[in-house]
Amino acid sequence: MEITRRGFIKHSFLLGSSFLFSSSPVYSAVKKEVKWIPAYEKLEMDGKLAQRVKQAYAIFENCHLCPKKCGVNRQKGEKGFCKAPLKPVIFSYHPHFGEERALVGGKGSGTIFFSNCNLRCIFCQNWPISHEGRGKEIQDEDLADVMLKLQSMGCHNINLVTPTHVMPNILNATRMALKKGLHIPLVYNTSGYERLEIVKLLEGIVDLYLPDLKYMDSDKAAKYSAGASDYPEVAKKAILEMNRQVGVLQLDKEGIAIRGLMIRHLVMPNRVAGTEKFVKWVAEALPKNTYVNIMAQYRVEYKAYDYPEIARGITVQEFMEAMDWAEKYGLTNLDPQSVALKNFYHQRRSN
Ligand code: SF4
Repeated sequence: MEITRRGFIKHSFLLGSSFLFSSSPVYSAVKKEVKWIPAYEKLEMDGKLAQRVKQAYAIFENCHLCPKKCGVNRQKGEKGFCKAPLKPVIFSYHPHFGEERALVGGKGSGTIFFSNCNLRCIFCQNWPISHEGRGKEIQDEDLADVMLKLQSMGCHNINLVTPTHVMPNILNATRMALKKGLHIPLVYNTSGYERLEIVKLLEGIVDLYLPDLKYMDSDKAAKYSAGASDYPEVAKKAILEMNRQVGVLQLDKEGIAIRGLMIRHLVMPNRVAGTEKFVKWVAEALPKNTYVNIMAQYRVEYKAYDYPEIARGITVQEFMEAMDWAEKYGLTNLDPQSVALKNFYHQRRSN
């Protein structure tokens, strides 16, 4: 049976939705049933969290929070490449039901969308937020209250979307919220464009790392992400450090993620993302049961229309070859929605 692109997108969505509400576990992860407390709470009990906040805030004086290393004094209101001010700007926050199933559970992932970005991909789906900085500037105290509100709504975690340029504010807010009863894990939902030294500073604070690994070739990274030719190398180093800190994904007895590394990789048209190199690297550099989400939902956004190579959605064939590579290189903990989509198209093709 022929599969059209329109049909492919439709079935991607439907399968994703059905798995969201399914109750049977479909992928492997280490199960933990011991009483769990978040990493940042342990660090506070050790008397080290306040010092970490101070260390992080000091970086604002000569900002080198990310590989751009602008050197601007954000304490004095100077702005660098990301255009972010000293205080966090947030666009929205809410329980999110479109994230990975292990983050969403029954009550949603408590997602906070930070405005501005240090990578600024030309195909960004959130471009009004990340490129144009739309949102509201708030105080760290307000950010703490947002975290507590999401927790009170039953969210399973605090999902920090594009956190890199506001990391010190997040640490400060987390400590404030902890004092008022925050007890769910932080999800560091990053583009992967992170400095190794900065990720090291997050050790013992972040329980769940959710980095992208967008490209494996520096020329693609430079072309589509504002000249960030160093992206593949810095992102790989950052991910290795994240794995060192939190290891393979752990779930609680309800199947909700409580600690570990979850990597996202968006399949792009014309093999722009270097997907075969990506799965090969994961298989060789990380445990084979590292959680990997090979994502099929690329769509043409923002300035991607101006680049013929990426000015279309991906085909079924491009998604299927990505999943086949993951199997070929022996990855064993793939996102269940991606696996379901692959199985669906296998079945359609054999009918
Ligand atoms: S966080 Fe922003 S100001 Fe700081 S180094 Fe990165 S791009 Fe520059």
